[in-house]
Amino acid sequence: MEKAQKVGLEIYRFSNLSRYLEIDHFISSRAGGYSKGPFQSLNTGFHVGDNDWMVLQNRKKLAQVLGAELDQFTFCNQTHSCNIAVIDNFWKGSGSTDFSTAIPNTDGLVTNNRKIFITVQVADCVPILLYDPVKRVVASVHAGWKGTLRKALQAAVRQMMHTFGTNASDIIAGIGPSNGPCCYEVGEDVKSETIKSLGNTNQILKEHPEKNKYIFDQWHANFLQLKECGVPEGNIEIAGICSQCHSDTFYSSRFDNGITGRYAAGIMIR
Ligand SMILES: [Zn+2]
Repeated sequence: MEKAQKVGLEIYRFSNLSRYLEIDHFISSRAGGYSKGPFQSLNTGFHVGDNDWMVLQNRKKLAQVLGAELDQFTFCNQTHSCNIAVIDNFWKGSGSTDFSTAIPNTDGLVTNNRKIFITVQVADCVPILLYDPVKRVVASVHAGWKGTLRKALQAAVRQMMHTFGTNASDIIAGIGPSNGPCCYEVGEDVKSETIKSLGNTNQILKEHPEKNKYIFDQWHANFLQLKECGVPEGNIEIAGICSQCHSDTFYSSRFDNGITGRYAAGIMIR
């Protein structure tokens, strides 16, 4: 993962996706925005209690440094589901200037249309970006522990295969900054949900020094899901940046006790 300084903003990009000049992608961070207090400063989330006008200015600034118009962005109303929406020009701009027009009840976006930044927003949950350079299809996915157990990422890969004829072996994937295996404590409830969903906790839940607590490895869980679909290991880049350890750079819901902003991850075919 590489950091690009752009007129006051800090944009992050995956090294593997950056090799494809026909696409653009980004992961935003806290730097360079207008929001104050717990939302400082480049909060992209309308739904978190921040001032809407500030959020709009933040999004406009982000679009500007990416060389895009804000109405090229499509946002979804994320609900920790495994619902995936195929985005075409009709949906371009949905949710870009207000929350009410975001694609409802959706946690993954897929498109082969050009010039649409399909975007997800997170604070500790995992943003994942996918690109099929053969069929020229992109996807963005939001997966926290719930979305991970519901296999939102695999649902997105299946949607790419089903709708656009993608071969999983062609997919280039980036697993973004999010709560890492250094910090992501969970309890018995998540353990039982993990067993219900996956049949076991192997390689996903790690030992925790305290009783009845575990570490949920969101990065590895999503890496395994990609591998299981047939995405080659060498095509998968894990940013390896923990949002809770780096809450000064990325928003962390855990670190800020739930009152915080959202950073965004988006991908677009130029
Ligand atoms: Zn950490």
